[in-house]
Amino acid sequence: MNTSSDCIFCKIVSGQIPSRKVFEDDEILAFHDINPWAPVHFLMIPKTHIVSMAHVGPAHQALIGRMLGLAPRLALEAGAGPYPEGGFRIVTNTGKEGGQEVHHLHFHVMGGPRPWLRG
Ligand code: 5GP
Ligand code: ZN
Repeated sequence: MNTSSDCIFCKIVSGQIPSRKVFEDDEILAFHDINPWAPVHFLMIPKTHIVSMAHVGPAHQALIGRMLGLAPRLALEAGAGPYPEGGFRIVTNTGKEGGQEVHHLHFHVMGGPRPWLRG
């Protein structure tokens, strides 16, 4: 597993920075965003340090597929309503112009009754 010593999400993976966990297995961690935009707002990250979606390639297909395949279940468990009245939004900010602030790949999963603060 890759880690980066100055990465806050690697520190969340290692437990150096506490988080409110939504899900964890050997490859994936999901935890509530510290600054939520929506009633449900958690982040899904690979435990290994992948910088951004721009760094994803064929070697990551299974991991990314597992993350996206898990998202609907976790969204419902975290309180998003069922489709079609409920639902959720998955966002991956990538690079400066893509609005990425933390440079460890993450999917924002947002849901819950509107209005939302943002998004
Ligand atoms: P980005 O702008 O990179 O797509 O999103 C980074 C997200 O990480 C933001 O929504 C921000 O609130 C969240 N975040 C930043 N630092 C922490 C932290 O220490 N703990 C948690 N739980 N979320 C964080
Ligand atoms: Zn990292």
